[in-house]
Amino acid sequence: MTHDLLIIGAGPAGMAAALTADSLGLKTVLLDEQPRAGGQIYRNVAVADPAVANLLGRDYTHGRALAERLAGSGVEVRHGALVWDVARDLTVTTLRQGQAEQLRAPQLIAATGAMERPSPIPGWTLPGVMNAGAAQIALKTAGSVPAGPVVLAGGGPLLLLVACQLLDAGATLAGIVETSPAANRWAALPHLPAALGAPATLLKGLRMVHRLRDAGVPWFTGATQLEVQGQERAEALRFTAGGRAHRLDSSVVLLHHGVVPNTQLTRLLRVEHDWNDVQLAWQPRVDGCGQTSLAGLRIAGDGAYIGGALAAEASGTLAALGAAQALGRLSAVECNARMRPAQKALRQQLRIRPFLDALYRPPQWINTPADDTLVCRCEEVTAGQVREMARQGCQGPNQTKFFSRCGMGPCQGRQCGLAVSQILASELGKPVAEVGAYRIRSPLKPVPLASLASLCTDPDNQDSHP
Ligand SMILES: Cc1cc2nc3c(=O)[nH]c(=O)nc-3n(C[C@H](O)[C@H](O)[C@H](O)COP(=O)(O)OP(=O)(O)OC[C@H]3O[C@@H](n4cnc5c(N)ncnc54)[C@H](O)[C@@H]3O)c2cc1C
Repeated sequence: MTHDLLIIGAGPAGMAAALTADSLGLKTVLLDEQPRAGGQIYRNVAVADPAVANLLGRDYTHGRALAERLAGSGVEVRHGALVWDVARDLTVTTLRQGQAEQLRAPQLIAATGAMERPSPIPGWTLPGVMNAGAAQIALKTAGSVPAGPVVLAGGGPLLLLVACQLLDAGATLAGIVETSPAANRWAALPHLPAALGAPATLLKGLRMVHRLRDAGVPWFTGATQLEVQGQERAEALRFTAGGRAHRLDSSVVLLHHGVVPNTQLTRLLRVEHDWNDVQLAWQPRVDGCGQTSLAGLRIAGDGAYIGGALAAEASGTLAALGAAQALGRLSAVECNARMRPAQKALRQQLRIRPFLDALYRPPQWINTPADDTLVCRCEEVTAGQVREMARQGCQGPNQTKFFSRCGMGPCQGRQCGLAVSQILASELGKPVAEVGAYRIRSPLKPVPLASLASLCTDPDNQDSHP
């Protein structure tokens, strides 16, 4: 064992877990593939250009204090460390500066966050089409703003946030095309009273809507039949809204249909998962301290359940407290007492979730696209081919790999996994939970062969190592 606690992911969940563990005297190492702490929301926060930080607002700069506390703590932080394998005995293998390294601790917290739900629509593979989050990453890391008119299409708070941030950064917005069905509003209504318990978040949402309306950005709701048009690259977004066909000229189309837990690592480790029919996503099954069905493995933050940055922070604290108790460094009584403030913060942050989940539930058609739409971008498999596989007897996503290599490209099924499970479920007339998800194998992300060779510790043997 090299440490008491190993944490993967230096977003709000991982940073909070590391700081809590450090305060309890646990020998802790925090790994992240990014060059700096912050995760998605606080990406680059410690070194962000003040002008960019200013336009990203207080929600962004809140992360600076966390990152500064981390830098001043006793936590061993290894940036630029891509975790590409975790064994069931919790040995973690990383790629860092071209070398593979292995670390092991009796407690492991995976705080690897969320990813954007893929939006497979016709034309989504054309240059100029990206996830909205990708445009935000470019803004946070390089202060870069898309040139030419931008259309944002989809639904969810992050879509509106990115639209406001790009507007403030000087982008020209050709339109916002919301795809959330009108029926979502009725479904969300019963959850409004609970959401009123989180007035700051609601007000933030209203301010974003006003900002975009005041700027005169054309806004369409209940849009369907989206298609990116263009020869060599995106030239326009076509869609139907209000019973009419529309076409918005634009060289950049940003798609977004919410975020879902990134379950690549938990799938690799074969822990139990559940299908969340409200958030339309898989999530690892965890207890109140993030403990999974594999002893010693805990999940914190959006990787377990989409709750937002402040919820992620609270769940990171809870996971670290659980780890400290499991290591015998905290009694159950002490642990329970220390958990209370974080549990309260988590409850407060999650109050608004049922409202947001209902209001921004993605339309069914985004997860079950038309036959000629590419679903697996890496291996170029269409939704129609997945349906055909089901008709030929394919019972689950793993079998589609044998039929067509679907999900076997460099992204390891991250882009197509959700859609393939849902297309198969609807074609086979079974619940998604029964159809299941891709089994994930290492490496989680592509790694150079030379780094595998560097795992050979005996220098005399290196020449003969494959
Ligand atoms: C693209 C995107 C942009 C977002 N922007 C915002 C925003 O502006 N405002 C907002 O409120 N919410 C935003 N969210 C939602 C937001 O991610 C969260 O609510 C919050 O950041 C979750 O915190 P977390 O600690 O769980 O995960 P994250 O903040 O996502 O942190 C996870 C960390 O794990 C690291 N990691 C993942 N896999 C590996 C690996 N294999 N090896 C090493 N390191 C790894 C990542 O590099 C990352 O730093 C965004 C989500 C996405 C997907």
